[in-house]
Amino acid sequence: MTIHRGGRFLVAVAIAAAVAPGSGPSAQSLQAAVAAGERWETAFRELPVPANIRAYDERMSARPHHVGSPFDKDNAEWMLARFKEWGWDATIERFDVLFPTPKTRLLEMVTPTPFVATLEEPAVAVDPTSGQKAEQLPTYNAYSTDGDVTAPLVYVNYGRPVDYEHLDRLGVSVRGAIVIARYGASWRGIKPKVAAEHGAVGCLIYSDPKDDGYFGGGVFPAGPMRARDGVQRGSVMDMPVYPGDPLTPGVGATPGAKRLARADAATITRIPVLPISYGDAQPLLAALNGPLAPVAWRGALPITYRIGPGPATVHLKLAFNWDITPLYDVIARLAGSTYPDEWIIRGNHHDAWVNGAGDPASGMSAELEEARALGELRKQGWQPKRTIIYAAWDGEEPALLGSTEWVETHAAELEAHAVVYINTDSNGRGYLGMAGSHTLEPFINGVARSVEDPEARVSAWKRLQAATIAQGTPEARHEARTRDDLRIGALGSGSDFTPFLQHSGVPTLSLGYGGEDDSGIYHSIYDDFYHYTHFEDTDFAYGRLAAQTVGTAVIRLADADLLPFDFTRLAETVKGYVDDVQALLKGRQDEVRERNRQIEDGVFAATRDPRRPLVAPVAEPVPPALNFAPLENASAALTAAAGRYKKALASGSARLAGNAAVIRAVNAKLMQSERQLLDPAGLPHRKWYRHLLYAPGFYTGYDVKTLPGVRESIEQRQYTEADAEIARAAKVLEREAALVDAAAAELERLAPAAR
Ligand SMILES: [Zn+2]
Repeated sequence: MTIHRGGRFLVAVAIAAAVAPGSGPSAQSLQAAVAAGERWETAFRELPVPANIRAYDERMSARPHHVGSPFDKDNAEWMLARFKEWGWDATIERFDVLFPTPKTRLLEMVTPTPFVATLEEPAVAVDPTSGQKAEQLPTYNAYSTDGDVTAPLVYVNYGRPVDYEHLDRLGVSVRGAIVIARYGASWRGIKPKVAAEHGAVGCLIYSDPKDDGYFGGGVFPAGPMRARDGVQRGSVMDMPVYPGDPLTPGVGATPGAKRLARADAATITRIPVLPISYGDAQPLLAALNGPLAPVAWRGALPITYRIGPGPATVHLKLAFNWDITPLYDVIARLAGSTYPDEWIIRGNHHDAWVNGAGDPASGMSAELEEARALGELRKQGWQPKRTIIYAAWDGEEPALLGSTEWVETHAAELEAHAVVYINTDSNGRGYLGMAGSHTLEPFINGVARSVEDPEARVSAWKRLQAATIAQGTPEARHEARTRDDLRIGALGSGSDFTPFLQHSGVPTLSLGYGGEDDSGIYHSIYDDFYHYTHFEDTDFAYGRLAAQTVGTAVIRLADADLLPFDFTRLAETVKGYVDDVQALLKGRQDEVRERNRQIEDGVFAATRDPRRPLVAPVAEPVPPALNFAPLENASAALTAAAGRYKKALASGSARLAGNAAVIRAVNAKLMQSERQLLDPAGLPHRKWYRHLLYAPGFYTGYDVKTLPGVRESIEQRQYTEADAEIARAAKVLEREAALVDAAAAELERLAPAAR
């Protein structure tokens, strides 16, 4: 049975209204409004139909539809027609962006044994779209630079900074070499960036069967996992610096926009990069000699993993068509009746690397079914109070192109009107993933309590709680049992939420189901309708649940009179981050002290194995103490303001319904709350990223760094910079506390007796 409960905010308001002394007509009308809101929500959740989602997915993945392809445009026009048919005011916004496609791809081993890599994913007989060769993008990494290099090969594990520290200990340099890294553990674009910083002249990235292949199960088409010739395409642009069109950082790539010369675009790689299959990687890795790879570096190929350099020498030649390509965002609106200038925005991308039935069509199809259902609700008489904007982004795969250019183009409007952005991407069977702005943590927990999991027949929330108890650490288990809400993750990057949250300060949620199916077709020609309907959400029951979940969130946000933002969860989370950066510094100090002591005591000399010699580490200065007091004070101020707001809401909510002026005044402040966390000067060395609480890591890519300026200065041993970053982060938190205080003061006017 579906649990038809309101969100936390609605519940709190309804209870307050019922018990408030002397509750007059306004309280009654509030109760009526809550009842009406629940009725529309309940009606909405009955509408999504799995067969429709299946039909959209089949249509959208019928042919390859990468940026600039005929079917990419065709899909955009098809979606535009659907939105219009469902009663939305829809349009296509076009941008012109730099999008490279391969012209020359050559990889060969020249010594000790000649070998030419196939660089080709073969068609599979049972899979009808896998043979659409004429329209498929070849296997490549987008925004690799052109290059023609021949050099000895070095195996660098996942190619993270920590892997190079180990190579230093082994006495192996990659200067002048071509590195081969395996996919995984960091975002792919980090691998060539770190390789180039260490002097490598080329980079290969392969899918090891241990991480992505037969080690995890049967391979396609017999099973869902990656076969020997499957390749992961993907972008290697330096997106932690800025995403979007490399030629128009910070502004929309509209026809008249001023463009950089390609040579001045900082986000294109410095060395040529090519992704390969484990079929193509095996002969190269097998021809390496030199030190044995550490146990943790070994994959699942039937070879002895060695590091090199050489004797394998490889020749890598890449050239690209550096074309300016049009992209097509579909933007659809339902106008709000009461607060038309407050926008609830929701998006998923529609472009794929190839056919993309999973990534992105599984998520895009659920969004379309929501749009159909919301249109249907409107025909039945529902009017959203706020304006709802549904977006289908183009060009997400190369570099979040469509969303970034749209956000940059509409920056001033977003600043004034954006309330919340909700993002989804691929969807599958399993558990609800929830991440985003912590002001929305109670809100999205409330939504998760209101939708029913099709397999376990409990709420999506209950199922996620059970999974956290079953699989979590003892600490997570305890929290899942005792805390009101399940914690939501913080957002790094990896999908279209990045420009909204980290550039424009729009409160953001990233949602999606998954976790029950492992698969190995990511960014290959085999991510198609055949694979999805054989190995993933085969009956689209989770597509329906995704539509129910996100649609419920959209309706609640659009219709709540007072925006359901909670600052106690934000304050609690910030306090945790402040503790984390202090622990990070202490951990660094302890580590350096211990290593210096071991060097001084001769531990490395005494344990040196002359047959497998390691380079002794060098002593370094212990990181200095930093003054965290500004951050601690700001965090305390935010906690106090959040408590005041919560109290004012509890005692004033009964009188809110009749008081449109107060609602508008408080909402105007709440809408600006995430914006307070931005600093227009941006993060160190990457000013496009302006959010001082959440950012993708400069050296991790997708993974989030919280309090990024402070954390990364400590990680990169920039202690003077760390001091400055502490002050800057403290300043935005103080500003946030002041705004929350002001919002509380507005509410307190409703209940003077409560003070
Ligand atoms: Zn995607």
